[in-house]
Amino acid sequence: MKNSMFFLILLSIALGIICGIYFPKPMTEIQWIGQLFINLLKLIVLPLIFCSLVSAITTLSGKKLGAIGFYTLAYVMLSVSIAVIIGLVLLNVFQPGVDLPAQLILANATPLDIKPIPFSTYMLSLFPDNIVKAAVKYEIMPIVFFSIVFSIACISVGKTAQPVIDFFVGIRDVLIRMIMWLMYLTPIGLFSLLGAAIAEASLQHLLLESLKGMLLFICIFLFGLLLQITWQAILIGLVTRRSPRQFIANASNALITAFATSSSMATLPVALMVAKKENISEDVARFVLPLATTINLAGTAMYEAVSALFFCQVLGFHLSIAAQIGVFITAILAGMGATGIPEGGLITMVMVLRSVNVPISAIGLLLPFDRILDRFRTMTNVWGDLTCAAIVDHLQQQKLQK
Ligand code: ASP
Repeated sequence: MKNSMFFLILLSIALGIICGIYFPKPMTEIQWIGQLFINLLKLIVLPLIFCSLVSAITTLSGKKLGAIGFYTLAYVMLSVSIAVIIGLVLLNVFQPGVDLPAQLILANATPLDIKPIPFSTYMLSLFPDNIVKAAVKYEIMPIVFFSIVFSIACISVGKTAQPVIDFFVGIRDVLIRMIMWLMYLTPIGLFSLLGAAIAEASLQHLLLESLKGMLLFICIFLFGLLLQITWQAILIGLVTRRSPRQFIANASNALITAFATSSSMATLPVALMVAKKENISEDVARFVLPLATTINLAGTAMYEAVSALFFCQVLGFHLSIAAQIGVFITAILAGMGATGIPEGGLITMVMVLRSVNVPISAIGLLLPFDRILDRFRTMTNVWGDLTCAAIVDHLQQQKLQK
């Protein structure tokens, strides 16, 4: 199935480009199909964010929030923050979206999508007086805050809250299955969104510039991932005194699996084997790796941040430092919500785009490239999980020796 899907995606990209160029009018008329695909993504995103955050945060407490939990969280925060900072710096320096036509995004946007929201209104919207009203209005950040507080309350209630936790973990798994099904529709959504965007661009003779701009964006993102992998490899050498080269060689099995499956969750069993090969203690690996797989999605968080900034550049939005800090925080949370499944990051990106008021339909611009970019960011995520396990294990051993 995987290969035929990959083939279908390539085919829909090719057809979308050809039809967008040669039949621009009909392509703009079937744009609603792409919109339908985006709607289906949006339909799942709210419950997914809530359920995956609840299951991630409550798992943390179930397994004793001791030193290992603390080291893991500290490393995850460090790793994800550095990833997002690398992404934001690269985008600010190279500005790949500045010369691209805003029409590329606006072609698929509905008028409601592009209504500007002042910063003060946005801040107030983070703390609504009615969470259901916020959900109806599709305000995602209040839902995130609510999920975090809700999870902490579940932890503090203890045993009697366990059925509640299990319930949401179950819903999360069901939603993940729905996303897997939805992914079968990707070629159709892709064809329509890409075709409509290209039709709009080709109608205005802007196609060449836009493709050039996207390529620069992709190269910058891949370079960012490489920087992320490099600093973690150096840290492995400095902190644990392992040979980074040997560590990479041992990790290669997991990295290839990550590239092939586009899912850090699916790669978890292989990552556990790598930990064994690297002599990471089993207790540490069994706790750290599953947890890190859920929340340590540095490659995804970087993707969320660079994409949001890229879209803002295309649309000509100037993002102040405060707004970029907002992107930084939402990108970290969106990375955590992506849950290590294929293209999970694409779905939670809605959250980051909402925070900077970019129309959700902008995602259409990334769709043709997302499948391949997903493989690279999944590799980076899995690499981050393995380095996390090695470093936590080392710190824990040192603590025990003392
Ligand atoms: N596929 C990624 C992972 O499994 C998540 C994403 O960035 O979409 O880690």
